[in-house]
Amino acid sequence: MNIKINSNFDQLSENYLFSEINKRINNYKGKNKDADIIKLGIGDVTLPLGKKVIDALLKASNEMGKKDTFRGYPPEYGYDFVKEAVLKYYKKFNVNLDLESVFISDGAKSDLGNIVDIFGDNPIYIPNPVYPVYLDSNLMSGRNINYIIGNEKNNFLPLPNDEIKPNSIIYLCSPNNPTGGAYNYKELKEWVDFALNNGSLIIYDSAYEAFIFNNDYPHSIYEIEGAKKCAIEICSFSKQAGFTGLRCGFTIIPLELESQNHKINKLWKRRQATKFNGVSYPVQRAAEAALSDDGIKECIENINYYRENARMLSELFDEKNIFYTGGLNSPYIWFKCPNKMTSWEFFDYLLENANVVGTPGAGFGTFGEGYFRITSFNTHEKTKEAIERLRKVL
Ligand code: PLP
Repeated sequence: MNIKINSNFDQLSENYLFSEINKRINNYKGKNKDADIIKLGIGDVTLPLGKKVIDALLKASNEMGKKDTFRGYPPEYGYDFVKEAVLKYYKKFNVNLDLESVFISDGAKSDLGNIVDIFGDNPIYIPNPVYPVYLDSNLMSGRNINYIIGNEKNNFLPLPNDEIKPNSIIYLCSPNNPTGGAYNYKELKEWVDFALNNGSLIIYDSAYEAFIFNNDYPHSIYEIEGAKKCAIEICSFSKQAGFTGLRCGFTIIPLELESQNHKINKLWKRRQATKFNGVSYPVQRAAEAALSDDGIKECIENINYYRENARMLSELFDEKNIFYTGGLNSPYIWFKCPNKMTSWEFFDYLLENANVVGTPGAGFGTFGEGYFRITSFNTHEKTKEAIERLRKVL
């Protein structure tokens, strides 16, 4: 065969983070058969779905088996019943949205990857370190990437700077994966004001929004005045309601968002209608249930379980006086590797000396080198045991 491929794919680095982690664990286990390894690298939820969600799934699945209630293709942008549930949820944060601004998806990752379809060749600004999807999806479409650097000085929460060119696309992730940091109202307002002034668009990933429990932090960028004129918000039921296996999320593109005489909302509608056929009816009913009052209570119970793990882990880093971020409004804790170890050196050190596994910060960008991410998605028992082991080796 001699067909041309998309040569932008040559720009991507090997996606080796988790395969390399598993390789090192398996090597170690090969030599230490009885090792009781505790995984604090898990980026996936572990608690089962709530009863409300399961009831809704079962009911909707049964409807699909009866002539009177069977449904075929769902609307490409989502059923109104779930979009209305999203609107009601946002009212809790005093955000009023138009029904048409909400697009139901099969998860945040798809929309974060696909959103590049509707934009031309603009300067792109991506935090470093951060969730790798923003970078890779822009590289695949041949974009030039600039970084907004996270470091200890800014607590891994970079703010706008004068080097950001006008009319850029800026990615923000709050609460952040991997650093666990979240922008407070004041900081997010700086970004919104900046974007409004220099004609930029913010793509705001709020996948971990449900972990915010502190009133100083916004749940949505639209809590900030003016954001509807400069921001797209992409959210997910994955971490909020444990939908990583069910798959559902949503993207908000306000009707106010315009560029070069184009409504961004209309472009996304066109894109979705062409390339996406909607989310299955039972899953959308499950998402609606997750946003009901009782559904939210069940979700919060699970989130509180993870949050307690995060709190216990944070205490250890306070006690040891080790620099860290996250743990408060996030399932992630991001800390500095001791003794100037690189993040992979520290990975091996922890595996060999404590039989604890986490994720090397270098996997999230060059500025993650020398840092390490651990998560709160394991059980209380395993997390406590891991803390005891970490206490001895840190
Ligand atoms: N955004 C961030 C920051 C994430 O960490 C993840 C998943 O880990 C996602 C988006 C993907 O979410 P979804 O499961 O909805 O595709």
